[in-house]
Amino acid sequence: MAVSDHVGFDQFIEGLKKRNPGQPEFVQAVSEVARDIFDFIADKEEYHEYQILRRIAEPDRVVSFRVCWEDDNQDIRVQRGWRVQNNNAIGPYKGGIRFHPSVTESVLKFLAFEQTFKNSLTGLPLGGAKGGANFNPKGKSDHEVMRFSQSFMTELYRHVGEDVDIPAGDIGVGAREIGYMFGEYKRITNKFTGVLTGKGLEYGGSLVRTEATGYGAVYFMQNMLEHAGNAVEGKTCIVSGSGNVATHAVEKLLQLGGKPVTLSDSQGFIHDPDGIDEEKLAWVKEHKTRRYGRIAEYVDSFNGATYHEGERPWSVPGELAFPCATQNEICGEDARMLVDNGCIAVSEGANMPTDRDAAHVFKEAQTLFAPGKAANAGGVALSGLEMSQNATRQSWTDDQLQELLRDLMKGIHDRCVEYGGVKGSEHIDYARGANIAGFVKVGKAMLAYGVV
Ligand code: NDP
Repeated sequence: MAVSDHVGFDQFIEGLKKRNPGQPEFVQAVSEVARDIFDFIADKEEYHEYQILRRIAEPDRVVSFRVCWEDDNQDIRVQRGWRVQNNNAIGPYKGGIRFHPSVTESVLKFLAFEQTFKNSLTGLPLGGAKGGANFNPKGKSDHEVMRFSQSFMTELYRHVGEDVDIPAGDIGVGAREIGYMFGEYKRITNKFTGVLTGKGLEYGGSLVRTEATGYGAVYFMQNMLEHAGNAVEGKTCIVSGSGNVATHAVEKLLQLGGKPVTLSDSQGFIHDPDGIDEEKLAWVKEHKTRRYGRIAEYVDSFNGATYHEGERPWSVPGELAFPCATQNEICGEDARMLVDNGCIAVSEGANMPTDRDAAHVFKEAQTLFAPGKAANAGGVALSGLEMSQNATRQSWTDDQLQELLRDLMKGIHDRCVEYGGVKGSEHIDYARGANIAGFVKVGKAMLAYGVV
């Protein structure tokens, strides 16, 4: 069969929509990758013949299950949990667990699909997965979170394992939830293995894992700027979110001489024109990540800062942007404001924070744009190093891991450059580079296996 006889891009997207009704996030994620892959495989017969993209865009399996737990009033509550195992062509499934009321099968399928490319980009042998539940840990007591996490693991344990699938944290799942789930896995199986990453240091966790995603997103920005003959130092930085990724991005920006001036949460954002320094950052970490407070209260503690209820920070002028909260938080209009206000580069700490229209605006403006699958891969890369330490029963030092993280992010950057060059220009299309570089390794492994 000639290449021209195979399914074309439009037909592929049509089929994707038909097969996945009511799953807009998943369709969006696959569509954004598919355009670049179709161009890349245009003259590569075997990728068409073996339907490689069609197969990556169909999860290996989606497990959905009931999670019952008892709240502090002794009322029985019922939630829905999932594990989406997208692809294990290059290594065991790996990806976070999200506890948030907005979790749906579509969101987890999109995240597992993205994770497949992200994990491939790290250069480590890791397949792609994602899981979670429509459970809101906010406002719950520690005991309620413990009972829920244990109940969740009571089903999940059948589907995971150190050589099968190794989950980690994500939104709503931090060290506390990982601890409860790991304890339950150990109780059920009577095995002490590295089945989860993001563990506490006392029971197999790794130094630098907590910081890795935020630090990595800033390292990626540093690599992009250096490649273009520029630097982070002295730049005003617009950051969204105020959780793990956002606060560690701010921490690394301060170390590199950047000036972060915004943070946000799901209710609004703060703008501090004097800059968010180490002392203010320590307040945010304590207030947001340990006490589950609101970012709005920042302005009561620090003079000169303003709070903007119900808004996102993209109207604030700055050269560098770091969306670190959640998906689809930068729309076309936001992207236009960023570009008009002098933003030269965007590094996605969150997963798919930029919607399709916004991505188009950045592309047209030739803004340096690092997609989440490349920019936020530092977290999963460090998780890969946690797995290596668990398997060899070693603990590496902070300095060793910081250096490895920097090297891994440089490696990811360079892989994107390899495939992201734009003809007749110095510009690098990092989104395209990441899609293709992530695809190539998984695709080659799948070709080696034949049809399985
Ligand atoms: P956290 O739960 O620590 O923080 C999430 C932040 O995003 C909070 O400030 C939260 O505000 C805000 N937020 C959540 N939902 C919305 C919304 N709908 N609109 C606006 N703000 C919102 O999560 P992380 O920092 O760990 O994760 C942030 C992003 O980074 C996610 O996209 C995640 O998938 C991605 N990521 C995380 C990795 C990690 O290692 N942690 C690895 C790779 C990617 P509020 O407090 O009001 O809820």
